[in-house]
Amino acid sequence: MSTAIQPQPGILDIALYQGGTAKIAGREDAVKLSSNENPFGAGDMARQAYLRAGHDLHRYPSTDHASLRGAIAARFGLDAARIICGAGSDEVITFLCQAYAGPGDEVVYSQHGFLMYRISALAAGATPVAAPEQDRTTDVDAILAACTDRTRLVFIANPNNPTGTMVPPSELERLADNLPAQALLVLDGAYAEYAEGYDGGAALVDARQNVVMTRTFSKLFGLGGLRVGWGYGPQHVIDVLGRVRGPFNLSTTQQDVAEAALADDAHIARSLAENARLRSWLAERLNTIGVATDPSFANFVLARFRDPAQAEACNAALLADGLIVRKVDSYGLPECLRITVGDESACRRVLHVITQFMEHQG
Ligand SMILES: *Cc1c(COP(=O)(O)O)cnc(C)c1O
Repeated sequence: MSTAIQPQPGILDIALYQGGTAKIAGREDAVKLSSNENPFGAGDMARQAYLRAGHDLHRYPSTDHASLRGAIAARFGLDAARIICGAGSDEVITFLCQAYAGPGDEVVYSQHGFLMYRISALAAGATPVAAPEQDRTTDVDAILAACTDRTRLVFIANPNNPTGTMVPPSELERLADNLPAQALLVLDGAYAEYAEGYDGGAALVDARQNVVMTRTFSKLFGLGGLRVGWGYGPQHVIDVLGRVRGPFNLSTTQQDVAEAALADDAHIARSLAENARLRSWLAERLNTIGVATDPSFANFVLARFRDPAQAEACNAALLADGLIVRKVDSYGLPECLRITVGDESACRRVLHVITQFMEHQG
């Protein structure tokens, strides 16, 4: 049926984001390894802050997030005045697209990049442009080749999701140095903490006027359900983003719980150590049984099968055993399964099922 009421250009091109499957019908004991959540959940300090927040639910929240920004700045050695907080880093990505890209503009991201870049670009009326990767790794030359005089934003997740691969800071610097003058480079550091010694791009942000970093509390800090993320950038960019941000975009609960999570050194240390240990264990064992992986710098492993049919059959075997991993067809990787590094028992179960599955492959 035709109607005169139509959305803005681009909106109807958006394919709805599919989150990681959370449940298997009829199975109470399913293990969810499909959304890169911290297998240990939120830390005790965050949980206690969450309970305390119940006393203040009638109060409007801080509009400038000063306390949370101060805590982020202190933890990561940044300038609090150049931090912006959002309802997940997804919201910061939305602010960036809304503020910097519109009809006629292009938003570049890498071939197997995070789906939200494309969605947010289309929502802003801009044209998404995917640049090819090299062996599932960001290719700076391909990104530069994809840039035109209409490119306004370039999104790179480093480490990338769903590949887990990473490019060195020197490559990011080369990218920032060679972008067209009107283009802003966004370094999505959702998994930055898992990459030992990597600052998420903070030093590059400090050194330049055309780089922004986004970060999240959803992964290492175990707060995916709370929805808190942040961005760090040059003052001129943060000022612009602040104009499109709603004044009450984060509740007091979100701000206080996130701040508490930042101070929970024990939970952070345990989460990092277990992830590093089990990530390399899982990758090595998978390689031993003939399932290839790329070196992962995040909290998941991308398992690569012979072809899409084999990946699908392995996914079915995992589901039959109550294990939910992520199919990544929508990222252009139908021969792969993305497996979140769970706790030790989850990793052992995953390996056991895939080992049995591979033994029956010709
Ligand atoms: C999980 C993830 C995020 C985090 O999104 P939030 O909105 O902060 O939960 C951002 N970027 C990438 C690449 C991710 O995988």
